Amino acid sequence: MQIIIGAIAYEVIEVAELASEHGTLCGEISSTKCRIRIDADMAAPVKQVTLWHEIIHGILFNAGYREHDEQQIDALAYGLMQVLRDNPILRADSVQRVTRRPRSTEKQV
Ligand SMILES: [Zn+2]
Repeated sequence: MQIIIGAIAYEVIEVAELASEHGTLCGEISSTKCRIRIDADMAAPVKQVTLWHEIIHGILFNAGYREHDEQQIDALAYGLMQVLRDNPILRADSVQRVTRRPRSTEKQV
């Protein structure tokens, strides 16, 4: 799977025992390797929030921020995941459907 963040497509891969390899690490993003690694042994919702966590790191890196507050990143990851899950109207295809203007049947002169 690939996730595009800014101008870069990141390869997302699951890695067995990533957490035990690096202590409590559940995921990591490398902007130089264009890769996001997620611990394969976690439950699906934890993998998903971990992916959001790494995506937020990527967005901040792109904006030039080098120091990130992990607690704020977690708050945004859990919050975004919940809001997007519980409000399907906010997903890109849905927003387009809701905000699309009706086509005019009048011909322009
Ligand atoms: Zn982090």
